[in-house]
Amino acid sequence: MRQDFFIVGGGVVGTALAYGLAREGQRVTLLDADDNALRASRGNAGLTWVQGKGMGMPRYAELSLDSVEAWPAFAAELHRRTGIDLEYEQHGGVDLCLDAEEAYARQAEYRELQASSERLRREFRWEYLERDALLPLLPGLGDSVPGGTWSPHDGHCNPLFLLRALYAACRDLGVDIRHAAPVDRLSKTASGFSANLRNDRVEAERCIIAAGLGARQLAPQLGLSGDVFPLRGQMLITERLPRVNQLPTPQIRQTATGGYLIGDTHERAGHDKGVTLPMMQTLADKAVRIFPFLRSARLVRAWGALRVMTADGYPLYERSTTCPGAYNVNCHSGITLAAFHADTLARAILDDRLHTQFPQFSGARFHVPATP
Ligand SMILES: Cc1cc2nc3c(=O)[nH]c(=O)nc-3n(C[C@H](O)[C@H](O)[C@H](O)COP(=O)(O)OP(=O)(O)OC[C@H]3O[C@@H](n4cnc5c(N)ncnc54)[C@H](O)[C@@H]3O)c2cc1C
Repeated sequence: MRQDFFIVGGGVVGTALAYGLAREGQRVTLLDADDNALRASRGNAGLTWVQGKGMGMPRYAELSLDSVEAWPAFAAELHRRTGIDLEYEQHGGVDLCLDAEEAYARQAEYRELQASSERLRREFRWEYLERDALLPLLPGLGDSVPGGTWSPHDGHCNPLFLLRALYAACRDLGVDIRHAAPVDRLSKTASGFSANLRNDRVEAERCIIAAGLGARQLAPQLGLSGDVFPLRGQMLITERLPRVNQLPTPQIRQTATGGYLIGDTHERAGHDKGVTLPMMQTLADKAVRIFPFLRSARLVRAWGALRVMTADGYPLYERSTTCPGAYNVNCHSGITLAAFHADTLARAILDDRLHTQFPQFSGARFHVPATP
């Protein structure tokens, strides 16, 4: 039977879109590469986060707000459909400031962001809290941390359970999922699109590239930019420790099973997703400064993963003008935006409204017109 869509990429972006489209009754094939592929969705921190989003582009902060507002129902729906508990919590979060200068700059940024959007002025809630005020939210906080910004919108989940639940929900809705199916060529056909696999070909009326860093190679084949680059993050996790009632922070958070997940590095390291001793030491030092009680905790694992970054850090939601019916979707906060992608974005693509509903996020913003 002819498919309505094929989606290239089985990370959290591709599966959220596949789920959203299948829920709307679309026949979808999901094509994912093999274990050698770069996969940000399997190495991230699991934050559902609004703070720090949209400086210079308030619309992005608004999308992040939309998504975190939709997250509780999204997590509950996935749980109901699949029985998988995403370990999602939204009790607020704290972005720590490790010196006075950072505290000053952060507050100035948030005020400026709110000044640029009426909605954010009304709805983006945050407060700068000095260490003593933070202590009840972050018991055990080190006394050299001056403070941080608190916001009730922020939360966290288990990102691997999110991915697993999206796969299970897609399967349940009849999505044709092909693993170890790297696409090397995309083309326009008389009635839609075709994807060349190693020994096979998949066709559909429309197609979405959600291939993370793979977009760079695939998107230009259908007149899309896929203009993304890798930015490495290194992460550490400790042994399981007794659960403490603490809010998550981007620097460190305790997972539902007790391990402390540490890491917020942003490194230009090409396609190398390894870890380095100096960076692991820096992360461990920072973790002990934030929570001195971790000094004696054992680290059980370290890993690196590559963020899917655009030049300005905002999502790329592209609709091809030369090959109508082809789309490219990239973003560097795919966990936060998963609820939005599965619902509003999937419907915008279904109704072919991406370019009118989200013009700010098209690839055109990176193209400087040639001087005549
Ligand atoms: C260290 C780190 C921490 C992060 N923390 C957070 C966080 O706390 N909160 C948050 O919201 N976001 C976070 N992110 C970002 C988040 O992980 C990404 O935005 C998200 O995973 C991107 O999902 P994706 O599906 O676009 O990409 P990926 O997960 O990279 O998936 C792309 C998929 O495309 C497939 N693919 C590629 N090329 C092809 C091809 N030719 N044919 C077939 N398939 C192909 C790959 O197999 C892969 O599965 C973090 C990222 C990193 C690296």
